[in-house]
Amino acid sequence: MIKFLDLHKINERFRKEIDERIKQVLDSGWYLLGEQKELFEKHFAKYCGVKHCIGCANGLDALNLIIRGYGFKNGDEIIVPANTYIATILAISENGCTPILVEPDINTYNINPDLIEEKITNKTKAIMVVHLYGQAVQMDKIWTIAKKYNLKVIEDSAQAHGALYKGKRAGNLSDASGFSFYPGKNLGCMGDGGCVTTNDDELAVKIRAIANYGSDRKYHHIYKGINSRLDEIQAAILDVKLPHLDNDNKKRRKIAKYYRENIKNPKIILPKVYDENAHVWHVFAIRTEERDKLQKYLEENEIQTNIHYPTPPHKQGAYKEFVNISLPVSEEIHRTVISLPISPVMTEEEVKKTVDIINKF
Ligand SMILES: *Cc1c(COP(=O)(O)O)cnc(C)c1O
Repeated sequence: MIKFLDLHKINERFRKEIDERIKQVLDSGWYLLGEQKELFEKHFAKYCGVKHCIGCANGLDALNLIIRGYGFKNGDEIIVPANTYIATILAISENGCTPILVEPDINTYNINPDLIEEKITNKTKAIMVVHLYGQAVQMDKIWTIAKKYNLKVIEDSAQAHGALYKGKRAGNLSDASGFSFYPGKNLGCMGDGGCVTTNDDELAVKIRAIANYGSDRKYHHIYKGINSRLDEIQAAILDVKLPHLDNDNKKRRKIAKYYRENIKNPKIILPKVYDENAHVWHVFAIRTEERDKLQKYLEENEIQTNIHYPTPPHKQGAYKEFVNISLPVSEEIHRTVISLPISPVMTEEEVKKTVDIINKF
């Protein structure tokens, strides 16, 4: 069986170091808001090229904290791609803001910058982009619009650890960025984890406080905060894995390149890439009119696949207010997309077998 993602195999490579670092946490007797988190925050900020990294409990909280940090609330509008994982949109509605859904570009699957301006009203406060599947959004156009209308730009980088746009990393392409360290992400821990990265000094201080019960010092609460922490064990694990991220992304790129050069089947549309360095291939998504049939066929041939995602957010029960909106490009993507196995531990043999079997479909 070719696994979609073999997390055990991914983490087993770092077992000795992880064991050692977890032991350090056990020995220290200090489990939250300690030196492991400080160390990882420092290293991840440096990696992304930003001034601040604030660890938190998960990727959804990271986005939520940014919106809270900027004080966006009731009725404020935030522009967001219609084609994303629902967390991006939940972070907006959780704060009483209105998500303004914008169609993706069918080629990149990312938000179509040419459709943003027509959605701007006097309530618009921010554009939240998503580097979907690991491909950095072409940010220049986003920034031009944001500057023209005085909007904040926020990145959802949950799928894009290490992706570059014009030499800068995801996490350093906007006012503030949210990351997830969910186990299956390109940089994943062994439970839940997330962080915010930003160059905004004021925002960083505020978010650090909001994430800790709104407290700037012990028992002194200046915001109605939340409890969202990256614990010491997760931070230690992430700090072990971070130095290997670039190499892991390189392996993903190599597999993606092989898929793109060797999958030759008229029924299949391959993903388009604008800049090799801008893509870290969290997901290798192809499209086909015969999606369900292909998935079944691959399963019969012992190849696990996944669908990112089967139902667009505006068609979910949670968002009845959007049920009558028509977003044909998003709907087309959700109807036809299927993700092939890709990971830093996939063998050459497995990649070749996957291609052979797809070409015979
Ligand atoms: C994973 C993911 C999130 C949420 O991260 P969690 O850590 O699971 O809360 C948000 N946005 C996108 C695009 C994601 O892929």
